[in-house]
Amino acid sequence: MAAIAVPENTRVFLLDIEGTTTPITFVKEILFPFIRENLEEYLSAHWEEDECKQDVHLLKKQVKHTLLLSLDAVTESYVVVLLWFCGRVYPDVVPAIRCWRRGGLKVFIYSSGSVEAQKLLFGYSVEGHLLDLFDGHFDTNIGAKVESKSYENIAERIGCQPEEIMFLTDLAREAKAAEDAGVNVAVVVRPGNTELTGEERSRYRVITSFNQLKLSGNV
Ligand SMILES: [Mg+2]
Repeated sequence: MAAIAVPENTRVFLLDIEGTTTPITFVKEILFPFIRENLEEYLSAHWEEDECKQDVHLLKKQVKHTLLLSLDAVTESYVVVLLWFCGRVYPDVVPAIRCWRRGGLKVFIYSSGSVEAQKLLFGYSVEGHLLDLFDGHFDTNIGAKVESKSYENIAERIGCQPEEIMFLTDLAREAKAAEDAGVNVAVVVRPGNTELTGEERSRYRVITSFNQLKLSGNV
């Protein structure tokens, strides 16, 4: 695996979830069948409970946000909102984030799944409680992931320049939106992700593991 240099002015890593920190196969092969099989029974058993009402409310809100977006975004949104059991995380993710943090960089999550759902995923992951790895979370309340304005909003909220952010995602159209805002990007190739075109491969930094990203003098 070739090492890829992270631009020296990088102060913040911004991470997508599905296809980046977390396997899409987990979502498609485990989570979806589980949801299909259990959702109706779960909802009818818990419909009157406050927590269930809140989840359904959250889901409605998410769907409203994502209806204008791609099927991928809707899927990701459903999945993360409905995630009530152990979130999977690729094995290279946690060690790399710890290394970046030791180097003084900040790490944020940006997903179509709600902030609450993101916290469930990383709070109850197969690698344990991981929320202390992150400086904050963004969802589509800040804007859609395919719109460059969202990345400007994120930079403003973090209090840095877009050029100081490095965004990791599996989707080229999200990478493009981030790049249009001045954010540096790397596209993450994982098993089961949407394949990149030849042009996308040559245009973006492409990694198959977070370990490939090498810091040099970043503060
Ligand atoms: Mg993704």
